[in-house]
Amino acid sequence: MSLLELKDVTLKFGGLTAVNALNLSVNEGEVFALVGPNGAGKSTVFNLISRFYTPASGTIRFDGQDLLARPSHAVPSSGVARTFQNIELFHQATVLQNLLVGRHRHRRASALENILFTPRVRAEERAHREAVEEVIDFLDLQPYRDQRIAGLPYGIRKVVELGRALATKPRLLLLDEPASGLSVEETQNMRWWIDDIRRQMGITVLMVEHDMGLVARVCDRVVALDGGKKIAEGTPAEVQSDPAVIAAYLGT
Ligand code: ADP
Ligand code: MG
Repeated sequence: MSLLELKDVTLKFGGLTAVNALNLSVNEGEVFALVGPNGAGKSTVFNLISRFYTPASGTIRFDGQDLLARPSHAVPSSGVARTFQNIELFHQATVLQNLLVGRHRHRRASALENILFTPRVRAEERAHREAVEEVIDFLDLQPYRDQRIAGLPYGIRKVVELGRALATKPRLLLLDEPASGLSVEETQNMRWWIDDIRRQMGITVLMVEHDMGLVARVCDRVVALDGGKKIAEGTPAEVQSDPAVIAAYLGT
């Protein structure tokens, strides 16, 4: 069954059509990649799914429901989480605090309940802590748990960025270039985590990634974009050998 479905989605920035009549269908339980040269429209597709942008035309459905009927702030509680190509963390806060903030954005309780501190809120608070501690264990972040982001190397920040999204326990995880800037060893770890996120946690993953080695290892299906349009779709091997994709990367 398709968990995420974009139909005929178009978004323009002034005269530039960043996403052009795009159809995309991601099945539940799948790891799906969006590839394409710089400026192809990949991050814009993520911004559309996260509701940062509203398409000029087309529909986006998540779990059968119209995602466009929801405001941007309601997207996390609908079960969609994302990481950013440029890591977006609170630099003066610790790893633990950043992960908790990710959870609190996810919460449904009202501000008033927060003040009254009802048993329900206390139970929710405990659930937040547990979810965050699970993520810290899963991503081997214990050594950095109480360290500030500002003092951490890039590779670790990247893992925290993944953790922030995972802590919301999403059904769909959007990863924008999870391996960019990582060493060979860090990329290998990222690959295992993505595998486990799907296998152990049952989370569907849509990722943008330039490292075709990683895409070939973790992804079931790939869509290639160029100039906002879909130019190929298939298995990683099919898409990688597609003449239109090769031409797009060569800029011909
Ligand atoms: P990718 O992630 O595939 O590298 P993007 O989705 O970031 O590409 O960008 C697609 C196109 O849209 C590019 O030409 C980019 O310059 C343009 N673009 C992206 N965001 C904006 C914006 N906020 N305003 C204007 N143009 C934008
Ligand atoms: Mg991008």
